[in-house]
Amino acid sequence: SKDRGRNTYNFYTHQMDQDINRRLRVEEQLRNALKRKEFEVYFQPLVEIKSRKIIGAEALLRWKNALLGQVTPDEFIPIAEQTGLIIPIGQYVIDIAFNATKKWQQQFQSQFKIAINVSPKQFRENTFIDMLKMQLEKHQIHVSSVELEITEGVLLNGDPIINSNLTSINDIGVSISMDDFGTGYSSLSYLRSYPFDTLKVDKSFINDITVDPGDLELVGAAIAMGHGLNLKVVAEGIETEEQYHLLRSLKCDYGQGYLFSKPLPRAEFEELLQTQVKS
Ligand code: C2E
Ligand code: CA
Ligand code: CA
Ligand code: CA
Repeated sequence: SKDRGRNTYNFYTHQMDQDINRRLRVEEQLRNALKRKEFEVYFQPLVEIKSRKIIGAEALLRWKNALLGQVTPDEFIPIAEQTGLIIPIGQYVIDIAFNATKKWQQQFQSQFKIAINVSPKQFRENTFIDMLKMQLEKHQIHVSSVELEITEGVLLNGDPIINSNLTSINDIGVSISMDDFGTGYSSLSYLRSYPFDTLKVDKSFINDITVDPGDLELVGAAIAMGHGLNLKVVAEGIETEEQYHLLRSLKCDYGQGYLFSKPLPRAEFEELLQTQVKS
């Protein structure tokens, strides 16, 4: 029994060691990832529900490292946040996404829209607005083409710089979207207090709308409320025709999901866009 006790203890420390090791390894590799050009920006189509046409894309970051292989954003984004590495990484995403957007606007679709995820640390940085303006200028992107997606986490601790950054963003004409709507605690009061343009209903609600009447009711209510507040509504995680048709009947404005396309590397996204323009 003494042995077993020791083994159990060893088992737990071993697991904890592994977790800490993994985190340290990810952090260490993340420090050099930009320099080593290990990131790639993928694009997932943003589709207008009623026409089923691609009207833009969400930029989604991918990281492939020689030692760790492919690491998911759900693992590395929080570590990039905690270490501050999200600042240069976030700027890189905007740079690449604006570059692609400009090209696609010139070649295929002048109204093409780009949505970019901005995490709390990035948003709280007092240089964020200047960086954004600089990138808009550099790529000659019109403000009306850009939407920044923020989660409740950005708004949580009521830092005054957040309010002033949101106001500045709204003033220059860039749109703001509330991402993962419905998963947090205070989404409703935030919608009232801040200048949002778009509400993005979380994919966990879309998942079961065809089987769970409660979820269907909630999504319907979220869309109606969004429209009542003069917001556009995007449904994320649309995977089936059935879900699409329900959302269409609920007058949801835009959608994203594997039904239309997974996030794609730049060249593949461009082919998809090209096909749509020709047809
Ligand atoms: P998110 O902003 O909610 O992005 C949507 C996630 O859902 C993406 O995961 C996307 O690939 C996935 N998705 C899209 N359609 C479907 C579908 O039909 N079914 C299912 N099951 N999933 C779908 P991804 O790319 O792994 O990103 C995860 C999260 O990482 C994002 O969630 C976002 O919070 C964060 N993230 C990704 N790129 C960036 C970035 O450049 N900057 C920041 N700050 N965060 C990012
Ligand atoms: Ca998002
Ligand atoms: Ca606005
Ligand atoms: Ca989401």
